[in-house]
Amino acid sequence: MQHDVIVIGAGLAGLRCATDLAAAGLDVVVLEARDRVGGRVFSHTFADGQVCERGAEFIDGNHSEVLSLVADLGLPLAERDRTLDPGVTMVDAGGRAVPMHLHANLVPDWERWEHALEQLAPTDEFEQATLGDLLRELGLSVMARVMIGRDIRTEFMLPPEEVSQRYAAQVVSNQLSGQRERFRVVGGLDRLASGLAERLAHRVRLGTPVAEVTPATGSVRLADGEVLVAGTMVAAVPLPVLSRLWPEMPLELGAVGYGIGGKISVQYARRVWRDYGSDGSVLSDRSWGHLWETTDDQSGDAGVLTCLMASHDGAAFCALPESQDRVVNETERLFPGARGLAGARVHTDWTNDPWSLGAYSCFGPGQWAASQAALHTQHGRMWLAGEHTDGFAGFMEGALRSGRRIAAAITA
Ligand SMILES: Cc1cc2nc3c(=O)[nH]c(=O)nc-3n(C[C@H](O)[C@H](O)[C@H](O)COP(=O)(O)OP(=O)(O)OC[C@H]3O[C@@H](n4cnc5c(N)ncnc54)[C@H](O)[C@@H]3O)c2cc1C
Repeated sequence: MQHDVIVIGAGLAGLRCATDLAAAGLDVVVLEARDRVGGRVFSHTFADGQVCERGAEFIDGNHSEVLSLVADLGLPLAERDRTLDPGVTMVDAGGRAVPMHLHANLVPDWERWEHALEQLAPTDEFEQATLGDLLRELGLSVMARVMIGRDIRTEFMLPPEEVSQRYAAQVVSNQLSGQRERFRVVGGLDRLASGLAERLAHRVRLGTPVAEVTPATGSVRLADGEVLVAGTMVAAVPLPVLSRLWPEMPLELGAVGYGIGGKISVQYARRVWRDYGSDGSVLSDRSWGHLWETTDDQSGDAGVLTCLMASHDGAAFCALPESQDRVVNETERLFPGARGLAGARVHTDWTNDPWSLGAYSCFGPGQWAASQAALHTQHGRMWLAGEHTDGFAGFMEGALRSGRRIAAAITA
């Protein structure tokens, strides 16, 4: 046996798990395919020091595992500007962009939608129905259905028809009023990952893709042919990736839905959107979807607008070779003068990234109930960790909680 534990994946789940195991005195190695840690937490620093997030961006005020790691690593937090009025979010529909409150039926319809969402519960009763069903039942205006549909795509990175009411209820019940998307980490969220990795030091092997796992024997074959064997394995990779490493993966795990899409962040020499009384947030009926300012809590003349391209149409748009130019052109349409100020661009396509194959888990009808047993059982010598295995699925909080939970199970 070469190691007590092999952890596959140096995202937040794998790093948290390995750090706890190492602290308990176990011999642990973390195998990471990429040449960096952090996985779907991946920050970018522009030439002038401004930062954008290519993956996860926000920490909710009740994400206690994330916040305790922030405190443990001594990282500074930036609180988002709460004085910005959500009413200034622009709605770009039918080629015309105006502040949301100027659309006569939209705000009351949106309130009805939010009320209906709050009536759902994360129970079996809501397992089979989708958010698409709920939208239809409410009989909302066409405009509201289009824009709420886009908002659902932003949140889940899949369309309403592919999100179960059960899963949506769970996400909503985890989001406490006033706490949603409250903080960013100053200098970039990936300081969370690098902080944990520093503690693990030589135990993290970068550039080491795993090609196959055999849970029955605890063996792991690397892409270069090397075979490692351990008493226990932890697979902390997204399920679409795991399905390629583990030929016998149970079908109910392979069926779990994943949001798809990516982000393009563009730095502008000046925050031109403010000239138009906008905070930069735009929800569009076009396939690029959703735009917001990532630097609202950062100083400097320049500012970064981030475009989240989500769901099937957004993911297809994101993969186009000309998508960056099109995002800049769309921004020019919304805020004339922007194009001449556009500078560095950062483009991340999570769907086509072989080490992610998607953005984050999103459980469709029947998928939550069907997958729970397999997600939480030990398969031979292998445990599963990662955001998809937790009640806070889809979030960094879920990733960290899962890592802690599996480390505790192993040391017990
Ligand atoms: C666009 C986007 C926006 C998001 N926004 C937010 C947000 O605002 N707030 C929030 O809380 N969460 C957000 N998330 C979700 C959050 O990023 C994830 O839930 C979390 O980072 C997942 O961590 P993980 O450890 O489970 O998986 P990952 O971070 O995916 O880690 C898995 C690791 O395994 C590695 N790996 C994969 N295959 C192999 C292999 N064969 N061999 C070895 N290593 C391998 C990968 O390289 C990766 O490092 C967002 C995600 C995306 C994509």
